[in-house]
Amino acid sequence: MTETAALHRGRVIRRQIVTPHMVRVTVSDIIPADGVPPRFGVHADEFFALVVPSRDGEPVPRYYTARAWRPEVGELDIDLLLHGEGPATEWAGRAEIGDEVAFDEPRGHYRPPADSEWIGLCGGATALPAIGRIMQERYEATDASASARVHVVLSVDDPADRQDFPLRDGDTVRWVEADALVPETLVRAEADPDTPGYLWFAGEASDMRAVRHRLRRELRRPTDRWTTMGYWRRDRDRWLARYEAAGEAFHRRLEEVYASTDDDDTQADRAEELLAEKGLL
Ligand SMILES: Cc1cc2nc3c(=O)[nH]c(=O)nc-3n(C[C@H](O)[C@H](O)[C@H](O)COP(=O)(O)OP(=O)(O)OC[C@H]3O[C@@H](n4cnc5c(N)ncnc54)[C@H](O)[C@@H]3O)c2cc1C
Repeated sequence: MTETAALHRGRVIRRQIVTPHMVRVTVSDIIPADGVPPRFGVHADEFFALVVPSRDGEPVPRYYTARAWRPEVGELDIDLLLHGEGPATEWAGRAEIGDEVAFDEPRGHYRPPADSEWIGLCGGATALPAIGRIMQERYEATDASASARVHVVLSVDDPADRQDFPLRDGDTVRWVEADALVPETLVRAEADPDTPGYLWFAGEASDMRAVRHRLRRELRRPTDRWTTMGYWRRDRDRWLARYEAAGEAFHRRLEEVYASTDDDDTQADRAEELLAEKGLL
């Protein structure tokens, strides 16, 4: 989120326990940024930077997915994983009705090509809100976009955190151990090489990089056939400290990469090279 991003504001009206480590917060009474309402409903994995109050009252942004948006009542559901320490997860653990939050404009990446005959949806616990919404929307869809078979591969630490999704004929769901998530995602990606499909993967940053590397560099799959997103980072604080200490020249070069006219994938490749130089992968 940039420091100048316009923020929509809202208030918590409900808090529910979805599973032992997943809390659903419903936000309503939304005051649009600059009078322009948030545009939900474009991508099924849409997300925003959610600004929550930290323990000392400081506002802190973290990325979250719009699990559901009900325009008729102006209600937004956000599912937050209780993973341990961190301003957002701690807030999720203590959120109360009336808490004020803010969020920037939703955007997303889930975009299976129209000719996809299969779709792979893979990820860890933080991907559950996006996958849950994708499956729900697809189940309710009446057009041809719902005709592809969907294969879901997920990993959660506690089996009690597994969730059910509405399925169509031919869909499959597999729950795997954490260390099997990347190999199983790649099995999925490589399963039907001759049938047009699409793979969406969201997980820990280095897992994401392994999947991306295989798809882009080794299998050379066209980039419109897959999307990978780093949703969280192991040892975030240590990584951030090293990132901040990487020096002015490094930060300038990285800014140049993101400001360039290169497409997203080329930018990601170039950024990765710079991060690798600093041992930040
Ligand atoms: C596009 C996008 C959409 C996302 N959607 C969702 C969503 O809908 N629901 C959701 O719960 N999360 C979602 N996330 C992930 C969420 O933004 C991160 O987990 C975030 O780090 C949580 O912030 P925090 O303040 O709780 O912890 P942080 O302050 O970021 O981190 C504190 C510590 O917790 C560790 N940590 C952070 N996340 C996890 C985790 N998932 N598992 C284990 N350890 C962790 C860090 O390594 C660090 O050591 C999304 C991320 C992205 C990029």
